[in-house]
Amino acid sequence: MGIKVTVWNEFRHEKSHKTVQEVYPDGMHVVIAKFLQAAGYEVGTATLDEPEHGLTDAVLANTDVLLWWGHMAHHEVKDEIVDKVQQRVLNGMGLIVLHSGHFSKIFRRMMGTNCSLKWREMGERHRLWVVSPGHPIVEGLGEYFEIPHTEMYGEFFDIPQPDELVFLSWFQGGEVFRSGCCWHRGRGKIFYFQPGHETFPIYYQKEVQQVITNAVRWCAPVNVVNFRDMAQAPHHPEPLEKIVIE
Ligand code: ZN
Repeated sequence: MGIKVTVWNEFRHEKSHKTVQEVYPDGMHVVIAKFLQAAGYEVGTATLDEPEHGLTDAVLANTDVLLWWGHMAHHEVKDEIVDKVQQRVLNGMGLIVLHSGHFSKIFRRMMGTNCSLKWREMGERHRLWVVSPGHPIVEGLGEYFEIPHTEMYGEFFDIPQPDELVFLSWFQGGEVFRSGCCWHRGRGKIFYFQPGHETFPIYYQKEVQQVITNAVRWCAPVNVVNFRDMAQAPHHPEPLEKIVIE
């Protein structure tokens, strides 16, 4: 069985902004879904304006890894859906948060911090350095790769220290940024990846596709037999060994 992926996209800029429409005529979720499908994953998509934002209980139950791109309408995402996604992550579903998803309700919920950062939209050059060369997410990459035109995101990025830092970025204007970060929450794994500003064709770039493809594999749940639901962990177990109190 392949890994089951759901690509969630807010899908608003593509409908309202001419430049974004030209870059992603069918929405960036479609572009992302296509390269993940080509990599052998079972891929579906979901968008904000669908009922339950496309994230019904059935869809969530059938998702191993959820990708999240949002920007202008974070506040429109219903809290009850965020609650459900959070519990799925704690129970093992992988979560990949892309670019401006740093301010999404779900990412801030999982981090517990503001997730604020510096930004500048001048189309400057971006160089991503691999700082965990043994990590599965960098499989197939070189020492670094560059995105020719992008939006700058700079430190301080208000996140908890990542469990693993995979990419450290430099921008032409001089800022640096932790652009590829991994965390564990409950049984789930979370990867934040900075590239993806909507007015540039970033999700067509092969290195970016490689990273996201690798990240899906890294984030996929691990099968643990008979592990309890994280919301109902046993609080009062019988001892496994006979306890003799002297
Ligand atoms: Zn952006």
